[in-house]
Amino acid sequence: MNTLDINSIREQFPILSRKIYDKYPLVYLDNAATTQKPRLVVESMSEEYYNVNANVHRGVHFLSQQATDLHEAARERVRTFLNARSTSEIVFTRGTTESINLVATSLSRMKGIAGNPEIIVSSLEHHSNIVSWQLAGFRLCVIPMDDDGGLDMEAYRHLFTERTCLVSVTHVSNVLGVETPVSDLVRIAHEHNVPILIDGAQSAPHRTIDVQALDCDFFALSGHKMYGPTGIGVLYGKETWLDRLPPYMGGGEMIKNVSFEHTTFNALPYKFEAGTPDYIATTGLARAIDFIEGIGMDALRAHEEDLTRYAVERLSGIEGMHIYGYNPSTGQMPHGVISFQLGNIHHLDMGTLLDRLGIAVRTGHHCAEPLMHRLGIEGTCRASFALYNTRDEVDRLASAIERIKSMF
Ligand code: PLP
Repeated sequence: MNTLDINSIREQFPILSRKIYDKYPLVYLDNAATTQKPRLVVESMSEEYYNVNANVHRGVHFLSQQATDLHEAARERVRTFLNARSTSEIVFTRGTTESINLVATSLSRMKGIAGNPEIIVSSLEHHSNIVSWQLAGFRLCVIPMDDDGGLDMEAYRHLFTERTCLVSVTHVSNVLGVETPVSDLVRIAHEHNVPILIDGAQSAPHRTIDVQALDCDFFALSGHKMYGPTGIGVLYGKETWLDRLPPYMGGGEMIKNVSFEHTTFNALPYKFEAGTPDYIATTGLARAIDFIEGIGMDALRAHEEDLTRYAVERLSGIEGMHIYGYNPSTGQMPHGVISFQLGNIHHLDMGTLLDRLGIAVRTGHHCAEPLMHRLGIEGTCRASFALYNTRDEVDRLASAIERIKSMF
């Protein structure tokens, strides 16, 4: 039973009352790409710009200290959100992409990493969890999947070699909405004494994350996908791992002492935070977490799962519809995203025509080309849900698709 007052939640997102092409009320179903921002987040940031703004960590003056307090309070807010042991384990980055690049680059520089090092990834990965490793000089060993995105865990066990440096897998696929068996992935990685990174870009916005219970070594997320501002993300890393990894970028704040001959580095997490951080965005991210927790992650998740089930029910009733990651014979349901293909209508045509009716979806390969190759397709049309979406919007999507179908 859905007890959320969605109308009052929607009122906190001014953009949702926009008319598209001055005609159609916006139906925003591109949330896996980025979510809209509630007033609380935007106003907290403008308030800080107007009244507090000063560079953090460096000043003795009042404003700098206040800005630093807000920035560090945001780190503590993220710590509790992820249930990390300590704020030393919370590194601010620009997003999931930078978090993964940080680990890839630093790991490649670690002593003892030499001679054809390997990373295990899954067939479901986003390009950020593929290309970052390639650029850092790692060979990728890929966990195969079945047609519904289920990972072959037996094959996974056989991918470990003496060259395996790390496992890096998505928690939830941004294309299929499939949840990977993270606890088994973590346990098996650890049986081989290999650390594991979880790409939480598509999980952290939709479910409670407890990094201690997950026992992952690294966890990456993007603030903008969870009602927070753009340009801010998080890398959680176990202190033991962050201690061992060399720095990522050089610059101010990440150092203890610098001379032209030798530099020593700052304590965690600052060792990984070179230069002026986006301290206004960290406040925005903290307020986004307040927003989510004010509603309650369990209630949020129940609402989104209800919407997804309803959308699957409505869309699968349309003749010629194929929904990826949904299997009626096994009961497998996608989580929060519906990637679909209708007959032979090109996904780009479908997306463009939906847009003309005020419905924002995403089309293409969704930054997961290897997954597209595995599925034997070039792209899909993807509708993805957030807390503020409604069954009425799903109905509008379904009737728009029916209308487009009749045009072909
Ligand atoms: N990983 C997954 C599963 C994603 O869906 C995305 C973005 O869509 C990313 C990583 C990259 O996130 P960002 O562009 O915020 O760094």
